[in-house]
Amino acid sequence: MLTGIQVVFLGGDARQLEVIQKLYELDANIQLIGFDNLQRSYSGVRKADLTEEVLSEADAVILPVVGTDDTGKVEAIFSSQELRLEERHVAALPKHAKVYTGMAKPFLTNLCGKHGIPVVELLDRDDVAIYNSIPTAEGAVMIAIQNTDITIHGSTCTVIGIGRTGLTLARTLKGLGANVKVGVRRNEHFARAVEMGVTPFHTDHLAKELRDVDIVFNTVPAQVLTAGVIAQLPPGSIIIDLASKPGGTDFRFAERRGIKAMLAPGLPGMVAPKTAGRIIANAVSELILTEAKKRGMNR
Ligand code: NAP
Repeated sequence: MLTGIQVVFLGGDARQLEVIQKLYELDANIQLIGFDNLQRSYSGVRKADLTEEVLSEADAVILPVVGTDDTGKVEAIFSSQELRLEERHVAALPKHAKVYTGMAKPFLTNLCGKHGIPVVELLDRDDVAIYNSIPTAEGAVMIAIQNTDITIHGSTCTVIGIGRTGLTLARTLKGLGANVKVGVRRNEHFARAVEMGVTPFHTDHLAKELRDVDIVFNTVPAQVLTAGVIAQLPPGSIIIDLASKPGGTDFRFAERRGIKAMLAPGLPGMVAPKTAGRIIANAVSELILTEAKKRGMNR
């Protein structure tokens, strides 16, 4: 249990409600900043303003999945007020406190680093990324269905990169009956693709391998879908780019060429906020419990 552990939530969306619920069940002392319009109430959970005083008691600060922007602004969909994390807030945190977020921009890591406060990036963790790949794959399939006039079954789909997201997506597409090809650059990924019953090719040969594709899914966070590659795509094919911004596609050239290409960020939060929230909740609660054990505070 987390009895006696002070957790401050700073902004967030529907996913954060799952995290609040989980930590509430574990008996943490919770303060919510940026939730003034939240209808749901939890007995003993207090809503607070963003002040040094509140943060000075925090053992853990939980930020939204996207952390802050480049200037410290924190998204808070349950609040009409702007939330902005400033140096004075971080300076007020106890030295043992940790900040948890999905991913951190340099603004957050630099600010916390300056004050010796560790920032834990949950989406960096393999377990979280693998669990997250499930709603991501479902969201990618949804976008494909919405943007094509053919079934996934029987179509030729190419997944570029079979890391944590690409592997799940390739398997999902195969399960739906697509002819799945995967672009990889490592021998072990080539072997894994063969084992899975999908067709691997080396990403050096992308242009040649995409000539017969219906739907391209990119998971590589580097520009692999260059103008030269896009020029080889058949008319009517589409690109769904899942890699984090700016994606791996030359979107300007794709538009010029008449190939529909879309960047599709944040799919877990969009298609399955409850599941995405539970994934974060499980990871963050485990980490805070481990910290509490280290400090001899868990009951
Ligand atoms: P990952 O496990 O690191 O997989 C990335 C894959 O890309 C690896 O197989 C890697 O191969 C390959 N790769 C990297 N650079 C390459 C290059 N220059 N050429 C060829 N292959 C290359 O990452 P992930 O967790 O699957 O995430 C992939 C991307 O999707 C990230 O940008 C992530 O932020 C994003 N994402 C988006 C959503 C969404 O909702 N849209 C959801 C989750 C993740 P090696 O192993 O050889 O390096």
